[in-house]
Amino acid sequence: MRKIVVSFLAGLSLLFLSCSQKKTSESFTAMNTFMTVSIYSSSSKTGEAVCRQIQSRVDELEQILSTTLPSSDVYFINHNSKIPSPLKPELKLLLDFCGQMYEKTDGVFNPALYPVIREWGFTTGEYKVPSAEKIQELLLHTDFSKLYDDEKIELDFGAVGKGYAADEALLILEENGIKSALLDFGGNIQALGKKPDGSLWKVGIKNPWDGQVACALSVESKAVVTSGGYERFFEKDGERYIHIFDPATGHPSQSDLESVTIVCESGIYADALSTALFVMGKDKAIVWWKKQMAEKSFPAFDFILITKSGELIYSEGLSDFIEPIYQFVSIETVSLN
Ligand code: ADP
Ligand code: MG
Repeated sequence: MRKIVVSFLAGLSLLFLSCSQKKTSESFTAMNTFMTVSIYSSSSKTGEAVCRQIQSRVDELEQILSTTLPSSDVYFINHNSKIPSPLKPELKLLLDFCGQMYEKTDGVFNPALYPVIREWGFTTGEYKVPSAEKIQELLLHTDFSKLYDDEKIELDFGAVGKGYAADEALLILEENGIKSALLDFGGNIQALGKKPDGSLWKVGIKNPWDGQVACALSVESKAVVTSGGYERFFEKDGERYIHIFDPATGHPSQSDLESVTIVCESGIYADALSTALFVMGKDKAIVWWKKQMAEKSFPAFDFILITKSGELIYSEGLSDFIEPIYQFVSIETVSLN
């Protein structure tokens, strides 16, 4: 009997809590991305103020990281052939993080690939297939570990910027005592807590072939980030050239994957890892995940791979939370051993 009363009271207080929570939702464009912030708070005034704070923090980060704004720190690096000193803390964090990622992925994750990506037209929109000589010439100055020695290095944080911005937004939410929120930074999802009614957030993973939902994923306090070859590409002579690059060749990745989704607590890790695992391709990505999880050198993360041939493969931690919707050719769960 006591149990029933306790759960009744718990249910009642949850109901009260969810009714007393006001939803504030605001959208804005930053980092070339349409972003939406949805916050549950005790008053809509608080919600609006927090949304504004998040937007200005994201704008601030864009002012540092943009490759096109002449006043940005990254623009300074790319045009003056040197790293500014002293470094802004945001840039220091990103350079350290990317250095670690570059090393851990054996150079698969490489923000210094920018001149190569630009040559293919991905920043200008003037797409072309560069000559083999030109690619080799540009690849000479893409060793991220020589960041402080190679004056020709140019950077682009396109593969981690949104994830980092989402982590920063999360700090603002927490500082303001927000317990429940969902950020959508152009496909980079960051969920804080649960929904106000106590249920998990439900996130849709895009079907690469028709843009519908391929699977639904239930999460609590997690970043869910997808990298896909179907998002930005150009076609020439029947060949598809995507915006995710293989640093080993200087060509758009020819991976057997259509998309990679990473689920973990940190947005910046999820963002970098989704790009890196995409380039690795199915087999290498799975081996690499097992190795990192065994060595515990990374925050724990889960993955969802959708292959070009229509397979769905995900790590075991997601088993109870994933619901396939698309008719996949096969569905496989990967466990650690
Ligand atoms: P999106 O930003 O479109 O969601 P990603 O997070 O996968 O997708 O980032 C892709 C961007 O990262 C590219 O537009 C390019 O600027 C950069 N990039 C491409 N290949 C790599 C790579 N191998 N390592 C690091 N950055 C990359
Ligand atoms: Mg990324």
